[in-house]
Order: sequence, then structure tokens, then C-alpha cells
Amino acid sequence: MTKETKELVYCYHCRTHHPREEMRRMVTKTGTRWRCIRSIEATQRGLEAREAYGRQVSEMNKAESKARAQRLNSALQEK
Ligand SMILES: [Zn+2]
Repeated sequence: MTKETKELVYCYHCRTHHPREEMRRMVTKTGTRWRCIRSIEATQRGLEAREAYGRQVSEMNKAESKARAQRLNSALQEK
């Protein structure tokens, strides 16, 4: 067989078919499913972005509560 056949695999994430070489096999509770690398990477990037955002928010909250505590302290000391 010399003819290269582009085997299409159903992607449960996109609900469409992609070439097999762009797919990764995912083992789930309900069995083996195929998902495209692009959607996996997009999800990973999304997770990383969310985590980075969460860290940023918690840092901001920390800085804010520190500033609030400092304001409270200086307000108490002014008496
Ligand atoms: Zn896909």
C-alpha cells in the first residue's frame, strides 16, 4: 500500500472528525475516546491562564488586606 490514506477519527471534544495524526487517545471511565491535540493544548493553556489569574488575584487580595491593616493601624495610632 503506497497510497496514504488520511484516516479520520471522531473527536469527542469538537464533535467532528480530524486526521488521525492530530489525535490523542484519551482513556475515560466510559472507554477510549479520541481528542485532537489542538483542543488538549487549548485546554491546557486555558488552565494555565486561569491558574495564573488566580495567583494574581490572591496576591492582589493579600496586598489589599495588608494595606487595609496598615491603614487601620495608623488610624489607631493617631488617637
Ligand atoms: Zn477536535
